[in-house]
Amino acid sequence: DSAGIATSKVDGRVIHDETLDRILKLQRTAFLADGFPSAGVRRNRIDRLVALVLDNADALVDAIVSDFGSKSRAATLATEIVGSLEGIEHTRANVEKWMKPERLMRGGRLTGIRAEVVPTPLGVVGIIGPWNFPLHLVILPAAAAFAAGNRVVIKMSEVTPATSDLFAALVAARFDESELAVVTGGVEVGAAFSSLPFDHLFFTGSPGVGKRILAAAAPNLVPVTLELGGKNPVVVGPRTDIDRAAERIALGRMVNGGQVCICPDYVMVPESRAEEFAAAVTATWRNRFPVVLADPEYPSCVNDANYERVTALIDDAREKGALVRVASPHGERLPDARSRKIAPTLVSGVSDDMDIAQEEIFGPVLLLRTYRDLSEVVAYVNERPSPLVAYWFGEDDDDFRRFVGSTRTGGVARNEFGIHMLPATAPFGGVGNSGMGAYHGRAGFDTFTHRRSVVGTDLPFMVTTSSAVPPFGVVPRLI
Ligand code: NAD
Repeated sequence: DSAGIATSKVDGRVIHDETLDRILKLQRTAFLADGFPSAGVRRNRIDRLVALVLDNADALVDAIVSDFGSKSRAATLATEIVGSLEGIEHTRANVEKWMKPERLMRGGRLTGIRAEVVPTPLGVVGIIGPWNFPLHLVILPAAAAFAAGNRVVIKMSEVTPATSDLFAALVAARFDESELAVVTGGVEVGAAFSSLPFDHLFFTGSPGVGKRILAAAAPNLVPVTLELGGKNPVVVGPRTDIDRAAERIALGRMVNGGQVCICPDYVMVPESRAEEFAAAVTATWRNRFPVVLADPEYPSCVNDANYERVTALIDDAREKGALVRVASPHGERLPDARSRKIAPTLVSGVSDDMDIAQEEIFGPVLLLRTYRDLSEVVAYVNERPSPLVAYWFGEDDDDFRRFVGSTRTGGVARNEFGIHMLPATAPFGGVGNSGMGAYHGRAGFDTFTHRRSVVGTDLPFMVTTSSAVPPFGVVPRLI
């Protein structure tokens, strides 16, 4: 059940469900009636969101773990809750500073002009979340939207129903619908949601659905932020400590069972060191994941569709001649359809006709490619859709700068998984196929803000029109 929301299609046109329309109208009316909220009101909304999450942390973690089937409670707490609250705390601490008008032309020649840029809320923001971090990826943008003075409606993923239903119920109990509302449901609800005349749409999900969101928003001229995915490359530089790099890449691939938008997808290793690298990766996996089936913390694929998609990618690669190395030391029978578990898997000898070479893997599978010269790496990355992040492992600064200076990716992380997300002040977002716009820290505040120029004068002559209307030729002397 999707919070009583049903949509219907007539001649291919989505007829909005009354619930969605009603919530949007309610929020917009309240937004316009109340005026732009003070810093105190904004912080209070963020505080209530944080309190809601903290007071119900155990239940939320239980819901997320149950949606996945098998997943670590500790890792869920760390990524979904602790990992969200740090960023939210930074945003909360800066609300007053970021919302201050910025004075322009201070001490300029036109002393009779007062000019400022006033950060202005947009109004009602719609947020659409994916299933892989169902809580983190909606509360972080919601807090940024609150900081910027907006009202928020969230549409959560149907793939994690326990989490979505629990969060929707918690929000309904603690927030007035005019401030924050959560709706749940699948593709139909998503389609109806994204065609509403919001003041901004913030979407996290796949590039394919991102295109639909952009198209649905276009008739209403709704500005859109897209946080998408893609195939993230990892480059192991020519003179790199292979064991150290292999360990970090192997473990980065396994976070959340490989179901992270910033997971390494394929790794490019100097040809002469590929075997050494492959051995180190599989040794790390065998050591850290001695059992898979019997381990209740080893992440499952979230549902049958994703399990079948990832196993089909492996099967297709194997059938077309790739070398598939499965790291399951105790002879467990894997993959296992019942638990949806796939052992850590390294695939090498990949050619472009294999699906795994084209599609974002989003599972516990790493592709190994080789190169002879760094120019091949740059060309390979640049010939493909721009990824969300590129990883670089190696100490050589010149090689690293050359790579960064000649490729286009959402972010770059060097020598560690996900480290580009660590500074609370670093903008996070994709470019090209991996998305448009950014958030985290000030970037999040700016995404949900209109920078409005407000300029006035008490000069005795018309500054802008006097030279453009009769009598022509009268150019005011400004000094
Ligand atoms: P998805 O695109 O399938 O779904 C995302 C959301 O869109 C869900 O709530 C879904 O119900 C909704 N939706 C589906 N079809 C829709 C439609 N036609 N119209 C409107 N809404 C629709 O993505 P997913 O499978 O939930 O998540 C995995 C993808 O998300 C991966 O590609 C991953 O890389 C990406 N991702 C990106 C980030 C990031 O921050 N850039 C973070 C997490 C995941």
